[in-house]
Amino acid sequence: VVRTRFAPSPSGRLHIGNLRTALFNRLLARHHRGVFMLRVEDSDAARSESTATEALQSDLRWLGLTWDAGPGVDAPADWQQSRRTALYADAAERLRAADSAYYCFCSVERLAALRDRQQRAGEPPRYDGCCAGIDPRRAADRVAAGEPAVLRLRMPMDGAIEFTDQVRGEQSFPAADLDDPVIQRADGSPAFLFANALDDALMGITHVLRGEDHLSNTPRQLVLLAHLGLNAPAYGHLSLVVDEQDAPLSKRRSAPGIDDLRGRGVRPEAICNYLARLGNPAPDEALQTLDQLAEGFDVTRLSRRPARFDERQLQYWQSLAMAQAPFETLRPALQTRCIPDDQIPAFIALVQPNLQTARELNDWAVRLFDDQDVMTDAAVARAIELGPAFFKTIMTELESADTHDWKPLRARLEAATGRRGGALMKPLRQVLTGLDHGPALGAIIHLMPAAVRRMRLQRAAA
Ligand code: GLU
Repeated sequence: VVRTRFAPSPSGRLHIGNLRTALFNRLLARHHRGVFMLRVEDSDAARSESTATEALQSDLRWLGLTWDAGPGVDAPADWQQSRRTALYADAAERLRAADSAYYCFCSVERLAALRDRQQRAGEPPRYDGCCAGIDPRRAADRVAAGEPAVLRLRMPMDGAIEFTDQVRGEQSFPAADLDDPVIQRADGSPAFLFANALDDALMGITHVLRGEDHLSNTPRQLVLLAHLGLNAPAYGHLSLVVDEQDAPLSKRRSAPGIDDLRGRGVRPEAICNYLARLGNPAPDEALQTLDQLAEGFDVTRLSRRPARFDERQLQYWQSLAMAQAPFETLRPALQTRCIPDDQIPAFIALVQPNLQTARELNDWAVRLFDDQDVMTDAAVARAIELGPAFFKTIMTELESADTHDWKPLRARLEAATGRRGGALMKPLRQVLTGLDHGPALGAIIHLMPAAVRRMRLQRAAA
């Protein structure tokens, strides 16, 4: 079985960038009828907030990105890194005992000076292996005597680490470019790259899709798992999501949070449909369910270039989502009381294709059912230009009409006013709704209470 996971560090809300990672992992799992897991990477206590853990779960649930394994399904020790410390300590000790990892006593000051020197020489920052040669027994004694030390993984000295990235193809990292990473901090807590790889292996994760920013961790994680004799997942690194200025979206910069979008009335299916196509050339421009998106999901088609977040495209999917939203999901947003209950379904069906958010139902309700003045200054000016006779004629026709069937009614209005098409409809729409565009005029005339209609026409004729 294919097992994928989303493994956020609970240090903030979900945003468009990391949410896309969650979505793609879930689509991949579902595509293969596999398992999607949620794992909370809170091993770095200083940077984790328990409220963030709750919030990201509620964001994922709201989006429909439910998980088959993880919080609410399994015991915390199965998905929460802070409850798994003994496991990491045990694996770290095994690596050390096998001399695949070594204690490093370098002080923060020494490492900072080293980085400085490298930076001045124009070299990339890397650990110089200063402690790699210390006799393991002597090192263990120093640690037993209370000297602070981190554990570093021994990376191969030569050759290259190669792997096939599911998205980016063949990858090769010369060993000379990879320094020995810290796997355990001085306080005994596991470093990100260690807990992350170990958990993937222990949890039977077969495929990992994650941000491109993790690409350089992968060769180290492959070496780590090989030392432990564990199977590594197939990694795939997604191009980053960038903003208009080509800067990567992040919690601090320009990334709309899921909570913001939710608060603005953006629907979950709009967000998922938009994200599913961000850096993923899907030919189908119709709104799809998560299952349909999963059906067509193909990792090999994902783009290697950065994907630009585009608010207008999100709005496009939002319009589609609104137009197809089930009645029950829209009805609660209608708070005004100006529409008789039995007319609400017809009202919602009529304005639904014009909605950008459900909240706009209230504006439409006032516009179509309330006796307030909706005419804009421009419409007033045009009404004056047209003169009162036009509106008086329409009023008379509407009052005396024995049918509200639009076709015969329109024919009557045309005959009576001597105007047709836009010359008839445009001023009439403006006067009745205050807008230049909107739902079919015939349907509006039909639904609008006669008193409201009359009042607006009278105002235009005044
Ligand atoms: N906790 C890591 C992150 O949020 C997970 C990276 C990964 O998916 O391997 O970036």
